[in-house]
Amino acid sequence: MSSAATLTIAAAPDTPGVRVVILDCAHGRTEAAYANGTPPAAQLTDAAVVQAVIAKHYETEGCRCTLALRRRYGLVAVKR
Ligand SMILES: [Zn+2]
Repeated sequence: MSSAATLTIAAAPDTPGVRVVILDCAHGRTEAAYANGTPPAAQLTDAAVVQAVIAKHYETEGCRCTLALRRRYGLVAVKR
């Protein structure tokens, strides 16, 4: 069993305009879905939501499977 977490970023299949982010590892699964409001509302990005999902996953699962993803998304300082 691989210890690296997998990240899935996709459009929600049934809801136009909604994006889904899923972080999965052997210990658990954390997911989020978001949709942006009309500008000038602040716009979320996949990267911003991925950061939130990684942080939540790390907080919930307490595992180190996301290390590579934390590096990639600039969250290497997140520690427990
Ligand atoms: Zn894990």
